[in-house]
Amino acid sequence: MSLKLDPRLAGLIASDQGLWRDFNDICDCGGRLAGTASEKKAFALLRERVRAASPANSGRSIPVPYNGWRAKRATLRLADGIAACHPLVRTIATPAQGLSAEVIDLGRGTPEEFAEHAGEIAGRIVLVRHELMFAAGTIHRRRKYDMAREKGAVGFLIAGPLAGHVVAGSSGRDSGPGLPALGIAPETAAKLARRADGWPKATITIETEESPAETETLVYEYPGTTDEWVVLSAHVDGHDLAESAMDNGTGLASVLAVTRALAPEVARWRRGLRVMFFSVEEWALTGSAQYVQALTEAERAKIALNVNLDSVGGSPNLAALSSGYAGIEPFLLRVAAANGQSLRAVRPLMTNSDHANFAAGGIPAIRLVAGFDDPQAHLRVVLTPADTRDKVAQGELRQATLLTAALVAAACNADPPEAARWRVRPAS
Ligand SMILES: [Zn+2]
Repeated sequence: MSLKLDPRLAGLIASDQGLWRDFNDICDCGGRLAGTASEKKAFALLRERVRAASPANSGRSIPVPYNGWRAKRATLRLADGIAACHPLVRTIATPAQGLSAEVIDLGRGTPEEFAEHAGEIAGRIVLVRHELMFAAGTIHRRRKYDMAREKGAVGFLIAGPLAGHVVAGSSGRDSGPGLPALGIAPETAAKLARRADGWPKATITIETEESPAETETLVYEYPGTTDEWVVLSAHVDGHDLAESAMDNGTGLASVLAVTRALAPEVARWRRGLRVMFFSVEEWALTGSAQYVQALTEAERAKIALNVNLDSVGGSPNLAALSSGYAGIEPFLLRVAAANGQSLRAVRPLMTNSDHANFAAGGIPAIRLVAGFDDPQAHLRVVLTPADTRDKVAQGELRQATLLTAALVAAACNADPPEAARWRVRPAS
């Protein structure tokens, strides 16, 4: 069968006014930090938009219990006064009077830097740099945080990429012990360099509130002619510094547009379409982790592919992170070529979005992401106050949506031998 998206469906997406409207409406909800009214507003909007696309499908909501957390106050005091800062998600609190210690600047925060300074870290606050997240060899913030903890640091500072702005992110901590952790601006980091007279001192004061919380995963199923599925997913939650436009207003708007165009067709296709909206993604991928863990082996075997959209606007260049599933790559590239699009396949598993839980659960999974390996792409300001809608060109978002629709349609219709190849991973 053809890998080219039915021109009628491509036409529907090319002319769908709802794509750009939904993107803007999602941004209007605010940054969608889990546990806030902004997140709830976004879920209500998604429900309304899916209902408008397929009134007969009321979907279902899976409760997602998680460790709720809120920062009531966070300050950073340097020798010359207070500096702007942003608490990392699930940072621990400090004593009420604050935590004062010397700061050791470990530059980017590579394992080599941690190793070379191993004897100097205990009892100090570690300072590292936030990196372009979508690049080969990126060292994730959570790894740096974990290395700081292992070496006995008492606090963690991460400097953002954007002049004059702090940076957000998650500490990766679930519950129990951890480090007080703040995102700071690059200018603040510059003041914390080691000097001839020693390491500079800083005082971190963080007040938090933790209590059991609950959010949800929204699921809409459009069955095909067999009991197999293609899962199309995107995460709802974000950070409260801005409107989380690229990450992940783009993915949500694309999923809605693909659902509008494809839902009426799926009943004639081999595999069904399962549309999923996850939350607490920014909290160590919690929503999708609970979902995949709860699936039986048989249910996992029935999922042919997870196509996860996370940050698909902000650059015209799209990459598919194939999570080690080498067998899916030829299919992805053929679909892109058949639809006149260019796509780069990147193989190493990157645990930077919900696809990682599907992949770890034995399900072929890809993440579509824009601007991979491009330090100039707008994606570099994801997690800063500059993740706003003006960074996304409507044409880029439409191209990503067309490619997604083509991939999903082709995956729903692929014959069983082709789908079997997707599950092949090179022995490691
Ligand atoms: Zn994301």
